[in-house]
Amino acid sequence: MTAFPARADTLITDARILTMDDGFTEIAGGALAIAGGKIAALGPASAAAGTEAAEVVDARGGLLLPGFVNTHCHAAMVLFRGLADDRPLDGFLKAVWAAEAAHVTPGTVRAGAVLGLAEMALGGVTHVVDMYFHPDATIAAARKVGVGLTSGPVFIGFDGIDHLPWPDRLRFAEEFVARHRGTDGVELMLMPHSAYTLDEAKLREVAAMSDRLGLPVHVHAAEAPSEMRLVAEQHGTTPMRILDACGILKPGALLAHAVHLDDAEIALLAERGAAVAHCPLSNAKLASGMARLKALRAAGVTLSLGTDGASSGNDLDMFKTMRQAAYLAILGSGEPDVLPARDIVAMATRGGAAAAGLGARKGVLAPGRDADLMLIDLSAPHLIPAYDPYSTLVYAAGREDVREVFARGRRIVAGGRLTAGIGDEIAEVRAVAARIAPGPARN
Ligand SMILES: [Zn+2]
Repeated sequence: MTAFPARADTLITDARILTMDDGFTEIAGGALAIAGGKIAALGPASAAAGTEAAEVVDARGGLLLPGFVNTHCHAAMVLFRGLADDRPLDGFLKAVWAAEAAHVTPGTVRAGAVLGLAEMALGGVTHVVDMYFHPDATIAAARKVGVGLTSGPVFIGFDGIDHLPWPDRLRFAEEFVARHRGTDGVELMLMPHSAYTLDEAKLREVAAMSDRLGLPVHVHAAEAPSEMRLVAEQHGTTPMRILDACGILKPGALLAHAVHLDDAEIALLAERGAAVAHCPLSNAKLASGMARLKALRAAGVTLSLGTDGASSGNDLDMFKTMRQAAYLAILGSGEPDVLPARDIVAMATRGGAAAAGLGARKGVLAPGRDADLMLIDLSAPHLIPAYDPYSTLVYAAGREDVREVFARGRRIVAGGRLTAGIGDEIAEVRAVAARIAPGPARN
């Protein structure tokens, strides 16, 4: 155990700590010290008696655990939350793409992303893998709210709502990466949208850029039956096979959804060292299907959880996502013990960090790791008693129980409230909504 320092920026005391380390170590009555954005030490509260801290958080029996890593999101799409409900993926995409074409600008992306990231921070999320147009605007939003972000240039085979023809898109990608390599709190991936929006030559170009720049890819894959049909028409095979043929499937690749996989594709995913962002709320709402979690786990594929965008989800709640992951896995297999609660919490924390390529820095509470953590208030009636904290988190707790959130040591939620002021962005999103759907009164 690392000794507690004499001085720390923040000291959290009297918490029940779930470290989420390899042995799922728990510390009752624990303390955790933060210094320079990192976890300086954690252990029994008595060991921290000599530590002076600028800020002390009395956790009073609360539950302290790593922040959630949301591995698939389009934060700015809160702009379209609830706009195109009750229809399948292809109809949903048509409606959303029309609204995007008319209303998405760097300014609206920034405002929407501030709301989306704020919603996530309030729900215990400390890092988000986000794919959307105008990624510089989402980076600005993440800086404001304080949430860590994996961002990247989006690749789509037509001009898109950012009006970039393919050669300009490639140039933008290179410039974006050069601009943000080393930006504090920002990690980079290349983000080809999917095999149904990119032809083979373009997929190969993205794979080549990924090799050249040393950046992994994040891509939608095998989400829904309609996608399987489209990809079969366009490529004569499945999303997984065409992505592999083009060099996209490789270590570090992060696949959103991965619902429709045959046994050979699951083996291929494991062999290539790709990870999955399982998005059970979006998959259920759009009738996309149930991912084969049991088989993916058995094959050793790194699994994580994503909310997807609020236009398909419809919220960005990792507690609901955990619970839905459990329900789908249980219903899909007929086995109530197929995915224990502890493993679901692991998917939402350390699994997410590993899937995002950040496993050495995030996802586990240990000295030297980023101070990405949340404190759950266990005093509400629906959380008493809490025999098994993992079961409490998955099956009883909600984001309303999140009291404190620190992201790289910055206190982004204090006493259940966001520390950043976002009144301007709320007003801006309301104004955008009034333009998208004038008429009925908006809140
Ligand atoms: Zn998505």
